[in-house]
Amino acid sequence: MTLATLRKLMMIALVMGLLSALPASGAPPAPLYQVTLPAADREARSALANQGVAIDAIGAETVTTIADAAELTRLRKLGIAPLAVTELPALVVDPAYHDYVEMLAEINQVAAAYPDITRVITAGVSLEGRIIPAVKISDAPEADDPTEPAVLFFSLTHAREHLTVEMALAVIRLFTAGYGCDPAITNLVKTREIWVLPNVNPDGGEYDVASGYYQSWRKNRRPNGDGSSGVDLNRNYGYRWGCCGGSSPWPSSDLYRGPTAFSEPETQIVRDFALAHPDIRAAITFHTYSELILYPYGYTYTDLPADMDGRDHQAFVALAQRMAQTNGYTPGQASDLYITSGDAVDWLYGERRIFAFTFEMYPNSGDPGFYPPGSVIERETQRNLAAVTYLSGMADNPRKVIGDGGDATPPAITLTVSAQTALVGQPVTLTVAATDDVGVTLVTLQDGDQNVAMQITPTLTFIWTPPAPGPHVFQALAFDAGANRAASAPVTVTAYLPAQASLILPEPAVLTWDAGLILTFTRPITGSTLVLRFDPPLGYVILSGNGTKAQVQHAAFRPATAYTLTLESGFGPDAMLAPAQWSFTSAPWRTYAPLVTQ
Ligand SMILES: [Zn+2]
Repeated sequence: MTLATLRKLMMIALVMGLLSALPASGAPPAPLYQVTLPAADREARSALANQGVAIDAIGAETVTTIADAAELTRLRKLGIAPLAVTELPALVVDPAYHDYVEMLAEINQVAAAYPDITRVITAGVSLEGRIIPAVKISDAPEADDPTEPAVLFFSLTHAREHLTVEMALAVIRLFTAGYGCDPAITNLVKTREIWVLPNVNPDGGEYDVASGYYQSWRKNRRPNGDGSSGVDLNRNYGYRWGCCGGSSPWPSSDLYRGPTAFSEPETQIVRDFALAHPDIRAAITFHTYSELILYPYGYTYTDLPADMDGRDHQAFVALAQRMAQTNGYTPGQASDLYITSGDAVDWLYGERRIFAFTFEMYPNSGDPGFYPPGSVIERETQRNLAAVTYLSGMADNPRKVIGDGGDATPPAITLTVSAQTALVGQPVTLTVAATDDVGVTLVTLQDGDQNVAMQITPTLTFIWTPPAPGPHVFQALAFDAGANRAASAPVTVTAYLPAQASLILPEPAVLTWDAGLILTFTRPITGSTLVLRFDPPLGYVILSGNGTKAQVQHAAFRPATAYTLTLESGFGPDAMLAPAQWSFTSAPWRTYAPLVTQ
């Protein structure tokens, strides 16, 4: 090779390097390929990871990864022969997803709408100078209360995993919009400090969308000095960093761990945030994709190495299983997939004993891979809200899931009512009383599925005035600081319209054979519907009358029998009268003088 040719090649390399650093706006990216590689088991997968292959999904004895032409050549040189290579279509950026600026706008909008329960701070600044915001949701957001357990959610460690930003925004909406409406959410906002970092890799995320075409970018945007860019932030954390495979020392690799542990401002920011908030007990870091819930450790296949507490391990397994029941993901230890070292959950647990989980979100396969259409955002973020709520509730002591301490006993609760029937417009008093072994933090009263009262003190008195006739089913809920929930037995209050007519019986209420039962109404009953129920029932009744009087002949009754008469309803098709009841007794057998014959 002549010097001139070498110079020319270097120029081309330089130009290509610039192109990949600053993608031309509007131009599709250089072609990328979805590559299927053979990998029979986790050892084979770990071997691939050790070669710097970022495994995106695991199939039956295969894995898939995304590679450019250079990476394909490198793999073939290593003797790794792909089973299939599919060129990925150049994908135009989907405007349904929030880019960095839109994400900031949404955060500020929510903070402005819910100033009493939100606080937005700058957790730090990225390598390229972008702010990494942290959103706090709590009932006293300005003060960091060390007695309130904190829970952390963070997203977009990997640049191309844009669905995770939407997930973080959904978490913020869950706890803000739900406060004051949803009792369980209200109780969590009151008893927890909820922290959300929606984007911990803004440089990478922006790079991925800047050209208008997705770049399948994973890392941050660190210039590595060899023409390549980026450190894999999820291999840069300082717990057993670079210890044991599962990350790459080569800067061009998608799994590049960086020159030193915590070399990157983005991982330093998450580390310092966790250190500054020692009350964080539980965390979820959102990634895509594969529909998995992963717990530590990733650095070793061993389920219970010396640096994991046995009870903690049981709790991790149980918590992952419970959460997986809510979203249909597959739970497991991170290293079940392949060895990773220097990832966030290993550090959060290994260093800080935080119960930290990696959620690999939708989809579960390479189609649609990292870039699902915006139409799935709502469904796939809602899918995880039950798990988010659950883990937030466990944050006071995650080991309570295995019965190991913590506030696991729900409150006891009763609901009493001053009367089970009432007239429309006539107030009824409902009283909720709750007790708890630790402390009641919220009681609510529901009318059907509507909240009618919600307060912090364990006794709640509510005056309810029925607005319309009909039954109302009330139920009271109580919550405690452990986020346990108790529900009272339901209580039904039936409301009636005031009677338009009432019935007057003769006094004393003993019938005579001659008159039978004379019913006197306080209002003319002509033309009205009237239901009179006798007990014991009458076989055959002629109710004759007009105006304010009606009569039932004595022959309709059994002699010398105690009856009750219930006025059930009447006067208009929809009206309900206040039920009324009377008691009377029919006359004894009538005796006749014997017939005399002459
Ligand atoms: Zn990821």
